[in-house]
Amino acid sequence: MTTQPVQFPRFIGAEIYRGSSYGGWHPLRVPRVSTVMDLSRALGWLPRDRFVVSPRAKPAALAAWHSPAYLQALVQAEADQRVTDETRDRHGLGTTSNPVFPEMYRRPATAAGGSILAGEMLADGGVVYSPAGGTHHGMPDRANGFCYLNDPVLAILSLRARGLRRVAYVDIDAHHPDGVEAAFARDPDVLMISVHEERRWPFTGALADAGGGQVFNLPVPRGFNDSEMRAALQSVILPAVAAFRPEAVVLQCGSDALEEDPLSRLALSNNAHWDAVAALRPLSPRYLVLGGGGYNPWSVGRCWTGVWGTLTGQEIPDRLPQDAEETLRAIAWTGNSRARNPSPLLFETLRDAPREGAVGAELRARIEVLEARVRAMARVWV
Ligand SMILES: [Zn+2]
Repeated sequence: MTTQPVQFPRFIGAEIYRGSSYGGWHPLRVPRVSTVMDLSRALGWLPRDRFVVSPRAKPAALAAWHSPAYLQALVQAEADQRVTDETRDRHGLGTTSNPVFPEMYRRPATAAGGSILAGEMLADGGVVYSPAGGTHHGMPDRANGFCYLNDPVLAILSLRARGLRRVAYVDIDAHHPDGVEAAFARDPDVLMISVHEERRWPFTGALADAGGGQVFNLPVPRGFNDSEMRAALQSVILPAVAAFRPEAVVLQCGSDALEEDPLSRLALSNNAHWDAVAALRPLSPRYLVLGGGGYNPWSVGRCWTGVWGTLTGQEIPDRLPQDAEETLRAIAWTGNSRARNPSPLLFETLRDAPREGAVGAELRARIEVLEARVRAMARVWV
């Protein structure tokens, strides 16, 4: 098989994300990927030749990691629009976090199809962005934490299927990627780094959890700011990835660690995400950037549009063009205290004001623990 190298960054998206919803009360009732597509187009950043329509993965492809029984249950639940008690208990479908909804198989299978395709597109190098990806809680046999499938795991397996071995997985979502860790915690060829809020669901990812030695977990306290993220990036994430010398980097870029997000208590600005996206780019010939969490529709749309702007070298404008502003103002978001009286800056700008601050002593101590472990592993990776 010959694969054309990716000449310029590609954006994988699809229309299924527009209008589909987990239900009227669920945090994922809000539009996200469609906002990124609309804002990117309004800014002139997404010409047709950069956009790739995501295929929908078939169950046989998803079975690279998920169990056939689970996949059958997921397909059946979408067809029936209800589940049996046995399916709910065994596979976590039809729960409050993973409800029955009309596209409950097709939508995650499209995100997974994008991640599998990304692995193929990156065989010879390049940059791919799939903001619908990043569903890092999915388990082989069950839905978990709003995730029905685990597309980051499928992306890494897709890269592996192209003959690549060493993959670095970096996750800056507010939640620990328990599903991805379940897949690769003991795999010496998958470096895993996660920065996530301490004492928050799924309550995994302790500082001391090192997997096979190549797992680095940094739990961070509430109020985690841009200066603290920069310290984590410079002292742990970048040195670890550089020393590991991966053939590919997969970045899960969940935006629920942003100040305005309703599901975490972290306080980053979107500058922190864009800095991480830019800093990881030179460390590998292949770079896949995924989305993830993010439940404030305005801040997630702005953050992930800026991720695409960063990957494609765009100048971030001080003020959004009118059709971009209208895209943001047209999003209805109710039922949440953070939806009341939103700042006009959420509609008029893309870049947040930086949220710098002191680097807390406890956090600094944790970073030093991981720095020492990175230095020790760097000698193993030589
Ligand atoms: Zn999250």
